[in-house]
Amino acid sequence: MSVKKKVILWFASILVAVAAVTFLTVVTVSKSIINSNLKSSLEETVEKNVTEIEYYFILSEENKDIYNQYISYKDGFLEIDARFLDKISGITTGLYQENGELIYGENPVGEKLAEIEFSDCTLNKISTSEDSFYIFDRKLDGLGISGLWLRATVSESAATSDLNYIANISLIILGIILCLGIFIGIIIIENIMSPIKKITEAAIKIGNGTDLKERINMGEGKDDFKILARQFDIMMDRLDEAFEKEKRFTSDASHELRTPAAVISAQCEYTLESPREIEEYIESLEVISRQNRRMSSLINDMLYLSRFENKKKQYTFEKFDFSQCVSQLCKDMSLIENKNIKLYYDIEENVFVDGERELLERLVSNLISNAYKYGKENGEIKVSLVSDKKENKIRLSVEDNGIGINRDEKGKIFDRFYRSDKSRSESGTGLGLSLALEIAKLHGGYIFVESEIGVGSTFTLVM
Ligand code: ADP
Repeated sequence: MSVKKKVILWFASILVAVAAVTFLTVVTVSKSIINSNLKSSLEETVEKNVTEIEYYFILSEENKDIYNQYISYKDGFLEIDARFLDKISGITTGLYQENGELIYGENPVGEKLAEIEFSDCTLNKISTSEDSFYIFDRKLDGLGISGLWLRATVSESAATSDLNYIANISLIILGIILCLGIFIGIIIIENIMSPIKKITEAAIKIGNGTDLKERINMGEGKDDFKILARQFDIMMDRLDEAFEKEKRFTSDASHELRTPAAVISAQCEYTLESPREIEEYIESLEVISRQNRRMSSLINDMLYLSRFENKKKQYTFEKFDFSQCVSQLCKDMSLIENKNIKLYYDIEENVFVDGERELLERLVSNLISNAYKYGKENGEIKVSLVSDKKENKIRLSVEDNGIGINRDEKGKIFDRFYRSDKSRSESGTGLGLSLALEIAKLHGGYIFVESEIGVGSTFTLVM
């Protein structure tokens, strides 16, 4: 069963349970209120009637009130006032003699009523085969009437009809509330669950195919599902980006390798077509060797990059003397004999960094070898290392006075395999700077370049 159905089922069950408890409470409370009202109105009716009965020994006709009832009793008359309530709201009042004989009013219970002895101001209950009755007695006191009893009776079924009415009304109201509650609940749950549905659909689409472009696009919002949906989209963006990067890298790599392979193959075919002069063979072999070198360096750089990507999370950093490391590199690389370029270095002593020595050496040597490659004849390279104690940063810059980089290309040179047209005459793979930047990032740093065409370039590592 889907989560949505389960939640709806739970929600509906809880609502039904709440409605049932409410209904039972209403009925029970109403029943007790109705019963207590019934008893108190029984008592009130009797108490009121007590004052409505008087006894007269002699009463002339003109003194009689036409609205009152007159019953001859013993040697005189009982005057029952017109306000005497013998039947009101289901309560029946009767006037009885001590022996149980009814003088005035009604006995709704029948013979069985006589089984209950009179007892002043006492509430009794009697049950017959048809109904149950509450009975309240009151002894009359006064001249001529002492010994008479007022007995009020009310049937329990009178109360039951009120209770039935309340129960029916409650059932209807609770039913409507229940239906409305479940309906609104379903809409709310549908609404809350819609991101989950979308996430599931997106996940299924991605799982079934290769389309990493699928997104949930739930928009802004602070509820948990929207945050989850947004995180899912962010995760997919990153996956897609990584996948695209991988695809681009593979296609760029095969493109880069295809060129020298094609040149080698063409050169071989051409040379083998017919017997050649020795010079032509030498020339062909030189071309093949050059292209082979290019392929080797491409493969080496790619392997290094791939090893770096795989090991990225496993590198262990340790503090080491970066000044000494850079000085040594400069010393070694100053021996390179290329375009008669001179390398100068100004290295602040005792600059320590927390990092991976081999990677940082690779970064620095990439920057210096680029400065050689793209430097001009009789040019110079200046390497400097300074530390900024206040900011707890180090700055390493490699400056040359070579061909420079134009403004548009500054942003591209850190991309994998990117090589400016002007640099194509130099050997290279287009992977050096992208690797250098990755290494800098791994150490929490960055590289920026300042350059002017024909004037030179300065690459600065800050970390
Ligand atoms: P490559 O193997 O081509 O040197 P890099 O990634 O090291 O690859 O550099 C990418 C491109 O950036 C180079 O092809 C070149 O166009 C440019 N570049 C790098 N360093 C310099 C520099 N010091 N002066 C001028 N251009 C540079």
